[in-house]
Amino acid sequence: MSKVVVVTGVPGVGKSTVIKGALKQLEARGIECDLINYGDIMLELMREREGVTDRDKMRKVLITPYREIQREAAKRIARAAKQRSVLVDTHCLVKKPEGYYPGLPKRVLEELDPESIILIEAAPKEVAARRTKDATRCRGKGVLNEVVEHQLLNRAAAAAYAALTGATVRIINNRDGGLSKAVKELVEALR
Ligand code: ATP
Ligand code: AMP
Ligand code: MG
Repeated sequence: MSKVVVVTGVPGVGKSTVIKGALKQLEARGIECDLINYGDIMLELMREREGVTDRDKMRKVLITPYREIQREAAKRIARAAKQRSVLVDTHCLVKKPEGYYPGLPKRVLEELDPESIILIEAAPKEVAARRTKDATRCRGKGVLNEVVEHQLLNRAAAAAYAALTGATVRIINNRDGGLSKAVKELVEALR
């Protein structure tokens, strides 16, 4: 039966990098799992409905259209997940100007019904340095205290999502020099 695994973490922690490594290893072992980046689906809808073309500017969109687009994205992902198991690269809490906004509010959780929620974490100063170094994205300054707070709240949100769905929560550290260890742990979690 197909299943949904959600992989989350603060911006710049290395979610997409770790996922890419894990899927490559799984593919080599003949294990199939589709990857869906929630932000990609959001961006497609944001382009059509709000004229937003920059993925790092989406979080500034007003809450009402943001919520509607998020729900539509969840429906699309759920449709894809009916056919095959999917790994969803997404965010636990999106830092919007209004405050932290749940990446998986109740309606989204009902659509996705994840089997497990994986939190990728790193030391706050490592996250801040990765954000500064990665010129391909505009993730914000990455002030140390903000990263600390965001990671803390992500844990709380993940626990709440688990309580609502019965999903398991697993934390994977993606420290500097520890990428292959993080990839290995994700491979283990997905097998
Ligand atoms: P976003 O939520 O914004 O999409 P992300 O969590 O997907 O971010 P990535 O794009 O995977 O983050 O990684 C951010 C940067 O950190 C990239 O430049 C990547 O090469 C680097 N990076 C990822 N993992 C590590 C690691 N273990 N050590 C050092 N740098 C890393
Ligand atoms: P990413 O490339 O993973 O950083 O995703 C880009 C953007 O997509 C994020 O900054 C959010 O604005 C949006 N996004 C990703 N996942 C979700 C989600 N579950 N709910 C709402 N917005 C999301
Ligand atoms: Mg990413």
